[in-house]
Amino acid sequence: MTQQITMTINGQAAITSDTMDVINPATAESFAQAPRASEADLNAAVDAAKAAYPAWKVLSHTQRAELMVKAGDAILANADELTELFTAEQGRPLKIAKDEILGAGMWFKGMARFELPVEVVEETKYRTVEVHREPLGVVCAIVPWNFPVLLASWKMSHALLAGNTMVVKPSPYTPLATLRIGEILRDILPPGVLNIISGGDELGPLMTTHPGFAKISFTGSTATGKRIMASAAQDLKRITLELGGNDACIVMPDVDVDEVAQQVFMGAFFNTAQVCIATKRLYIHDSIYDAMRDKLHGLAKTLKVGNGADSDNLFGPLQNKPQYERVKALMAEARERGLTLLEGGAVPDKGYFLPLTLVDNPADSERVVVEEAFGPILPLLRYSDLDEVIARANDSEYGLAGAVWSKDIEKAVEVAKRLETGTVWINQNLQTTPNTPIGGHKHSGIGVENGRDGLMEFTQPKSIFIPKPKSAV
Ligand code: NAD
Repeated sequence: MTQQITMTINGQAAITSDTMDVINPATAESFAQAPRASEADLNAAVDAAKAAYPAWKVLSHTQRAELMVKAGDAILANADELTELFTAEQGRPLKIAKDEILGAGMWFKGMARFELPVEVVEETKYRTVEVHREPLGVVCAIVPWNFPVLLASWKMSHALLAGNTMVVKPSPYTPLATLRIGEILRDILPPGVLNIISGGDELGPLMTTHPGFAKISFTGSTATGKRIMASAAQDLKRITLELGGNDACIVMPDVDVDEVAQQVFMGAFFNTAQVCIATKRLYIHDSIYDAMRDKLHGLAKTLKVGNGADSDNLFGPLQNKPQYERVKALMAEARERGLTLLEGGAVPDKGYFLPLTLVDNPADSERVVVEEAFGPILPLLRYSDLDEVIARANDSEYGLAGAVWSKDIEKAVEVAKRLETGTVWINQNLQTTPNTPIGGHKHSGIGVENGRDGLMEFTQPKSIFIPKPKSAV
């Protein structure tokens, strides 16, 4: 790639002397260079965000919302270019990658509908008590590689609408499309309001310990989330942590197997199973287990895995080498332990490809059941009793999302209420919208994104007690 994509600091291109390779996971070869920010670059970005904050904060909510809509439209207008870049660095096939870019544009516009009105919580003859919502200051946003653009857009649309300024850091594996969005938005947002910088493993910790940030909004693994929480404690930075998941999907005995199998399959394997809210433990009722297993295995064998630039493929590679090695080792370990692996069709030799793989009814204690694989290996688990399967689903350190499939919606809702997760889908999967808060119980995170609840996390409530004139009492 000849075009040099730059960081955005103070509304301008920031060139670095140091760069890093960006690898196309479908070829395992470098196809571009991304800037590698130094500590001085980070300081410049924080200083720019700090300087821009007073003027951005005092714009009216409506003015900021209008700019969010313009930002969303600019992303949508550049969707084709961004999609190509996205597929090259992330690996997801072109035909489904565009949804992520369109989603990012729509998110800016969708969040712009939320207001933060002053709430009157007491009105008596003695006084009025109002609760105002104020921005926090400069926000640090750190994003993973699995949905790099969409998740960055969630953080940007929340933080900026609420009146904060920010510095965004994409994953070192997928920096380009996000940096390009920074370039596109330079013409729309005032300088310094949105700064986007990229760098290696050293940049994240430099950010989370930087005293210039008031809040860290982080999406990524639980292990990193714990480190971030510890470093935020030093100066009591606010945090939102969107972390890992090991989501259970419960398929009840009354479903039509032929009808639901493909949807259940996609709920697990979309984006080559690198989705925080993907099905990672699939509980199937004993009476339909064999039929469902065979149907899912048939899909694994026929749905195409390959280079995302080729329009035939529905599934791409693992996004990066460490993740590829991790999932490959998990598959090898499962095989060595004598578990029955049902493999999908052949995958390319070059690039970080692994076959879509099912594990036939392993014990609940197997690593492939207990841990978040974050790759295309899905345990199928038999159950016969509803109370028992709900207990097994909840027996996890995670609590992000879950799914229930049944013709009996009332019964499915009862199951949904008993799952210890932040989201449950009934007869659907992987749905997120700007209107619905998403977040997890237990080790899946702290706080939520999206909806009014998500927006409020980028604000501090201020209660103002206003006395009534004595004559009025
Ligand atoms: P990761 O934790 O390795 O990295 C995420 C980001 O944090 C990257 O930008 C990385 O550079 C940065 N980082 C790494 N170490 C850091 C440190 N010590 N301090 C500050 N920043 C640091 O996660 P990943 O492998 O990129 O993403 C996969 C994980 O993300 C999975 O566990 C998945 O479930 C989770 N995830 C969660 C959600 C959610 O909404 N809950 C969404 C997507 C992904």
